Amino acid sequence: MDMETARLRLMQQLSREIRDKKVLDAMSRVPRELFVPPSSKHAAYENIPLPIEMGQTISQPFIVALMTEAMQITDKDKVLEVGTGSGYQTAILCELAKWVVTVERHQRLLDRAKDVLTMLGYTNVEFHPTEKTLGWPKGAPYDAIIVTAGAPKVPQILMDQLAVGGRLVIPVGSRFEQELMQVIKRKEGLVTTNLGACRFVPLIGESAWDE
Ligand code: SAH
Repeated sequence: MDMETARLRLMQQLSREIRDKKVLDAMSRVPRELFVPPSSKHAAYENIPLPIEMGQTISQPFIVALMTEAMQITDKDKVLEVGTGSGYQTAILCELAKWVVTVERHQRLLDRAKDVLTMLGYTNVEFHPTEKTLGWPKGAPYDAIIVTAGAPKVPQILMDQLAVGGRLVIPVGSRFEQELMQVIKRKEGLVTTNLGACRFVPLIGESAWDE
């Protein structure tokens, strides 16, 4: 199957489960083949995660769509992504948000992602290497935060970086399997929704897992 046919098939699959048209449109505009290693290009539009450098993974398109939908992004929002990885999810966020802050602990992945997003013409994004504190407190508060690695619990330090009315989407569970959680920070308190089972590489650092 050629890439364009595979891409259309994937978009059709996603549109059966994802209702938010803005998310689907954003996904149809970002060329996933530019974010996977050259040897995986033929599989860029399969609905599966793929290995990238440094033992990490580019998430499954369905999970990217589901998480993005749960972030409820508007074009006025400033959003934070923890775990840039390939930069694919970052590009989707750039399509939807006013401003994107992304942090990654592997400098090599950060540099790669920055190159691809620059080449694609995105200018509403800043890239940072992870510091000791999880997230990027200097840019807070954020209207939405996405964590693309699995955490043992919802880190309070990220809740602190979320605006009132903000949405945090994060996989929470063991090192090997997690539940995808959406936590909305309302004035009255937190509203938590479980979006289903998932599998992410571990979130490393303070308030998360040891390396
Ligand atoms: N959304 C990315 C997923 C990459 S995998 C994509 O689809 O390509 C998750 C990434 O989180 C890895 O690159 C890993 O290095 C990074 N990561 C793990 N712990 C982190 C932390 N504390 N801060 C920032 N990035 C982290």
